[in-house]
Amino acid sequence: MILDIKKYPDPVLTKKAKKIKNIDQEIQKLIDDMIETMYAAPGVGLAAPQVGHSLRLAVFDSSVKEEEGLLTVMINPEIIEKNGEIIMKEGCLSVPGLEAEIKRSEQVKVIGLDRNGHTVTIEATGFLARVIQHEIDHLEGILLLDRISLLKRNIYKRRFVKKQREEAKEQAAQE
Ligand SMILES: [Zn+2]
Repeated sequence: MILDIKKYPDPVLTKKAKKIKNIDQEIQKLIDDMIETMYAAPGVGLAAPQVGHSLRLAVFDSSVKEEEGLLTVMINPEIIEKNGEIIMKEGCLSVPGLEAEIKRSEQVKVIGLDRNGHTVTIEATGFLARVIQHEIDHLEGILLLDRISLLKRNIYKRRFVKKQREEAKEQAAQE
């Protein structure tokens, strides 16, 4: 089932997500739906808060941009090692219309659980490392907007409010 992707300023996006204790049927269904939603968007990654569930779960597949990408499900992921720094352009399905140069670690080592509850460690560089850091940000309630300058953030927010007002007016005109 394709889920509705929550967008800024939905409060679920700025909440710190809770750890998953039991990987039960409900979680399995959520994982399947998130995978479907990510590919349909299309996106390279999706975190549970983006579909309205404040849980530490993310799915990603960087093969959209890199051939060696693989569909990965991570439950309760944690970055245990970071190296280097790199600036890359980034966007987010939950912050439509924003593309910004973001500085992140070039390499990360992440530990978490797969959907069967087995511990997995991922060592990632380049684009995949970026996707993983972006998704883990979502679990902390951090959005791209929090990673850009105050000036750029205000420009986005102003533009966003204006767009919302225009949409409301259009809707009122149709009614
Ligand atoms: Zn995002």
